[in-house]
Amino acid sequence: MNAPRPGNGTPLLEVRDLVVHHGQLRALDRVSLRVFPGEVYAIIGANGAGKSTLLRTIAGLHHPTEGAILYDGKDMTKVRPERRATAGIAMVPEGRRLFGSLTVEENLQVGATYARKGPWTIERVYELFGWMSERRTQRTAQLSGGEQQSVAIGRALVANPRVLLLDELSLGLAPVVVQRIYAMLPQILATGLTVLLVEQDVSQALRVASHLQCLLEGHTTLEGRPSDVTPAQVEAAYFGLAPEGASSPLEEGARGPGGSGGTGSPPRSGGVTGGVGPQGEEDT
Ligand code: ATP
Repeated sequence: MNAPRPGNGTPLLEVRDLVVHHGQLRALDRVSLRVFPGEVYAIIGANGAGKSTLLRTIAGLHHPTEGAILYDGKDMTKVRPERRATAGIAMVPEGRRLFGSLTVEENLQVGATYARKGPWTIERVYELFGWMSERRTQRTAQLSGGEQQSVAIGRALVANPRVLLLDELSLGLAPVVVQRIYAMLPQILATGLTVLLVEQDVSQALRVASHLQCLLEGHTTLEGRPSDVTPAQVEAAYFGLAPEGASSPLEEGARGPGGSGGTGSPPRSGGVTGGVGPQGEEDT
C-alpha cells in the first residue's frame, strides 16, 4: 500500500502543532500531521508515547492547550465530539469499549444511530465479517477478543465515516488474529474511507501504512513513507536512540530525539520491526 503520497490538494485531516496536557504532563508537544484522502496513516510509538492522546484529541475527547485540528479544511478544534462524529470522524477506541451486555446487532445499532448516508449498513458489516450474522443475537461479552474487535470496527463503519481512527487494534490479540483483522483494511478502503491508526505493533503498522509517524514522549521522532525509512531509523525513533552515524546513546552526554535521552530502553531482541507487539495477554 505504498502508493505515492498526494503532494498537493487539501488534506482530509490536518493536525497543526498540537499541544495536549494531562494535568501537568505535556502528553503531546507540537505534533503535526496531514492525512490525505484514501491514505492509511500510522502513528507508532511505545507505551505512553501519546498515540491515544492524539487520536482522542482528534475525536474531541481531550482539549488541546495549543494547536489546531482541521477536517476537510474546516477548523474542528473546538467542535464537540458528537458533531465531529456526525461530520464523519469515527473512532474504534483502545480496548473496544463495546456494551458487553448488548448483542452484536444492538452494538452495531448504537453505531448507526446518528449515521451519515453512505455505503455501510449493518448487513454490509455482516458481509465483511462472515461469522457475524449468525451470531447477531449473542452478547458481545461472550465473544473472543478478535470477534469483539471486529464488532467495534463494524460499529464505527455503520456511522459511515470519512475518516476512521483506529486505536491499537492489535491490543491483547494473538498475531494471527491481528493479521486477520488487518486483512479487512483493503475492503474498507475500497469504500472511500481514509484511515488514521495507532499501533504498538510496528511490523503490522509498516505492512498497512502508506505514511507513518513515530511518537516518543509526546514528540515526533520520525515521519515518512514506510518505503523511505530503514528499520534502524524506525528503531532509533521508537526507542529514542541516537540516529545512525551519531554518537551512541550509551556514551556519556549523548541524547536521543526529544532531548531527554528517550526511554533509554534497549531494543528487544529481533529489533523493533521484527517483534515489538502489544503488551499483555493474548486473546483470540
Ligand atoms: P499506550 O500504548 O500505553 O496507550 P500511548 O502512546 O497511547 O500509550 P497515551 O495513552 O496517549 O500514550 O499517554 C500519554 C501519556 O499521558 C502517558 O504518560 C499517560 O500516562 C498519560 N495519560 C494518558 N491519559 C491520561 C489521563 N486521562 N490522565 C492523566 N494522564 C494521562
